Amino acid sequence: EGALANRIAIVTGAASGIGKAIVEAYHGAGARILAADLNLPEFPELAGSDRIVTLVADVTAEDAPDKIVKAAIEAFGGLDILVNNAGICLPGSIEDQSLASWEKTLAINVTAPFRLTQAALPHMKEKGWGRIINLGSIMSDFGGPFLCAYGMSKHAMAGFTKSLAVDLGKYGITANYLQPGSIWTGMSKPFMEDQSFLDYWNTKTPVGRLGEPEEVAAPALFLATDEARFITGAGIRICGGAMAS
Ligand code: NAD
Repeated sequence: EGALANRIAIVTGAASGIGKAIVEAYHGAGARILAADLNLPEFPELAGSDRIVTLVADVTAEDAPDKIVKAAIEAFGGLDILVNNAGICLPGSIEDQSLASWEKTLAINVTAPFRLTQAALPHMKEKGWGRIINLGSIMSDFGGPFLCAYGMSKHAMAGFTKSLAVDLGKYGITANYLQPGSIWTGMSKPFMEDQSFLDYWNTKTPVGRLGEPEEVAAPALFLATDEARFITGAGIRICGGAMAS
């Protein structure tokens, strides 16, 4: 039952915000999900479901890609969908971004998705079907203040996803990236405590408010369905019109 019945997904960064909402949406659509995060993902409303397995893992660890993929295969016997969602935002302009924060951003936001995708690929090729959904941002298309490293990482995800689309189309595997605007999550909340920042985003967004994680999960669900098979290499803007204004 559901648009993702019989599908098996890995979602990283599943303990919070957008990742958590994607797990819940996929579960509602009938999928089986390996939910991985640095912190233990918890889904009290889905307690007792045998279609969610949680795993504590740092996506940057040397053995993480194999460990995460193996956990999905062992629990559910295959893999169809990979959502590279885990990410961090360490603010800084070119004048004050530290090398350490730049490298950490690159490791979590870019290199980890690259390695996890490589680990997942053989299983999708085996099925002749796959969905890779990466987290970009509206910062995949333009620069933002104090987002030197973060903006770099989200532009990288756009280029990475497009190369996946080019290389994997022949296997029945699509790759797309989501471009959320400002969404209420643990990542954005500390910034939005600054009223002037919140005012800036509310004004910049024609819809007039920040988005909710569920509003990002809905297109993430559609991209994972069979119906989305002709959409690949695309960035999907989920930003209340911020990129149109
Ligand atoms: P969040 O902070 O609420 O959730 C991110 C999750 O990733 C956390 O649970 C965290 O523990 C996990 N994580 C961080 N480092 C990890 C690591 N090394 N290994 C495993 N897990 C790790 O943030 P969110 O807003 O839900 O962000 C999810 C994705 O959406 C990110 O890629 C982010 O860049 C992107 N995004 C968010 C917004 C927004 O406004 N919130 C906008 C555009 C894009």
